[in-house]
Amino acid sequence: MSVGRAMRILPHRTRRLITDRDRGCRFPGCPTTGFVEIHHLQAWADGGPTDTDNQISLCTAHHDGIDRGDYTITGDPTHPDGLTVTNRYGLPIRPPQPHETAPPPEGDPPVPAGTYQPPSGGPITWNDLAIPSPPEGDPPVPAGTYQPPSGGPITWNDLAIPSDHELTHGTPPPPGLSLAPPPPAQTISWLDDPDNPDRGLIRTNWGHH
Ligand SMILES: [Zn+2]
Repeated sequence: MSVGRAMRILPHRTRRLITDRDRGCRFPGCPTTGFVEIHHLQAWADGGPTDTDNQISLCTAHHDGIDRGDYTITGDPTHPDGLTVTNRYGLPIRPPQPHETAPPPEGDPPVPAGTYQPPSGGPITWNDLAIPSPPEGDPPVPAGTYQPPSGGPITWNDLAIPSDHELTHGTPPPPGLSLAPPPPAQTISWLDDPDNPDRGLIRTNWGHH
C-alpha cells in the first residue's frame, strides 16, 4: 500500500460528516442509503483537498462507474442540487422526473363491479367463469306472466310453435270454459269461421247462443 493511498483513509469523524450530510448515494435517482463509499470529486492524484466539501457518498455500483469513467461528477456537494453528473459522452444525468416514474395512465384493468363469489368460496378461477352447460329437462321459464295451461311447470310443449291451423283458426279453449262473445271489431274468430266444421258443435257444447 502506497503512502498516498494510506492517506486517503478518512478519519471516522470526517466520514460521518459526509454520510450524515448525503444520507445515501448522491448519484441522481439512486435509492441506496446503506454501505456507501466516499468519493473525492477531485481526484486525489490531482491534489484535491481532503475535506467534506470535496467528497460525496456513492454506492458501490456508482462508485465503480465513476472509477471506470462511466460518469463524471462535479460541483458543490454541500448543496442538494449542487452536483452535476454527466456520462462518458458529456451528457447530463438527472434523476427521473415524477412523470417518468408514474404508472401508465390506463393503469390496471378495472375490477368488475359486484360481489360475485365463486361457488367454491375460494379465489375465482377460469372454471368459475365458464359458461354453464344447458340444464337437463325443461328450459328456463321466460320472463313475463305466462302460465302454462296445466298450472304446472312449463314444458317444451307449452312453448311449441303453433301449427298453421292454430294460427289460422285459433286454438279451442279447454273444456268447461265459457267464452265471451268476440269483440265487434274482430271480423272473424274461430267461432265464426265458416271453414271450421266443428263451429256449431262447439257452440252447443259450450252453451253459446
Ligand atoms: Zn448509487
